[in-house]
Amino acid sequence: MGRNQRGKCIFRVSLQVGAREKFLLLCIRRVLVPHLLCSQTVKRPTIQDDDKPLPPIILFGNITSANCGINMTMNATSMNFEVYYSKAMHYTLMVTAASFMQVLLLVRQIEYSNSRTSAIKVSLLTIGQQAIMDSYLCLMHLTTGIVVEALFNAFATAAFFKFMIFSIFEMRYLLIIWKARRPHGFQEGWNSMRRELSMLYSRFYGCLLAGIVLIYQMQRYTGALVLLIYSFWVPQIIHSIHHDHRKPLLLRYIIGISCTRLLIPLYAFACPYNFLHSEPNYSLAFALVAWVGFQVAVLVVQHYKGPRFFIPRIFRPEKYDYYRRIPMESPSESQDCAICMMSVGGSHDTSPRVVTPCDHVFHQDCLKRWMEIKLECPVCRRTVPDIDDD
Ligand SMILES: [Zn+2]
Ligand SMILES: [Zn+2]
Repeated sequence: MGRNQRGKCIFRVSLQVGAREKFLLLCIRRVLVPHLLCSQTVKRPTIQDDDKPLPPIILFGNITSANCGINMTMNATSMNFEVYYSKAMHYTLMVTAASFMQVLLLVRQIEYSNSRTSAIKVSLLTIGQQAIMDSYLCLMHLTTGIVVEALFNAFATAAFFKFMIFSIFEMRYLLIIWKARRPHGFQEGWNSMRRELSMLYSRFYGCLLAGIVLIYQMQRYTGALVLLIYSFWVPQIIHSIHHDHRKPLLLRYIIGISCTRLLIPLYAFACPYNFLHSEPNYSLAFALVAWVGFQVAVLVVQHYKGPRFFIPRIFRPEKYDYYRRIPMESPSESQDCAICMMSVGGSHDTSPRVVTPCDHVFHQDCLKRWMEIKLECPVCRRTVPDIDDD
């Protein structure tokens, strides 16, 4: 309260303090209130005898000045910075460990898809969506690190890992898949290769920007947005059904990536004392786990039972049988495998005989090795269907 002097505003301050425990009220009356009103530095009291963290102090009230027409309301909650920082540090440790796991899984998966025929089986959208997610996470962590300076190192490490995942591993994987789908663009010299690369990169960054706009527009519908972002396995499921591709991804990659990617949203929605101070949303967390679990279940069943397991056998298109008998009038009477130049069907052969739709005969092992590079007949260059492993 001030005295009425010429040219000065008179303020009336009314503050209310909410706290449950007596010693806290004492602490507030002795320290906080004089500190606020007199703005003198006061030593922190040593009332606290045990290590129990202080319950939050809630401060609300208003400051009004009738003669100057000023009216301010205030509402503040105390925060224990030590607890806050340690929670945030634990969070970044969790993110860094999960990112490290993701790197290992990605390396394994890229090794698994090193041949052209196996890279073709992987959906570009599934990997692209994950790369975009990682780039957003990288940005988010970097911004948090810059805003909360004390936590810069921890958040920058997490951001760096995310940056590494999307810029090195996922971009490389996208390039492998792109190259497998459009091999001609990479065989016709530097210019066409550069064109292919810029096409891939411009699509990626276009999706990145479109995603930012989408997230901005859908801010209010957190639930729908999170479920949409976590639908990254759906393109793979559809891709496998459409092209009848078997085993495009390693099982441990599917399960490992799903679990590690769920950690951050579960921390935000289902951990009641997280450093974000966000209200837990258990129903959304449950829906998210159920949705991702459902996608993983479909992928696992597709892995064991074939991508079109849910379509009744009579509705499936008939598959080509590589082990069929050749009609007597077939042109391939010499019965030599054009790949290894040895005769096929001899008694010493360990590999079974296979016949392409164009009636050319090969050893099964030879043709499988050939098909890892090209899906066409080595003799007449006609396109041939994929051979099943089982
Ligand atoms: Zn052979
Ligand atoms: Zn042929």
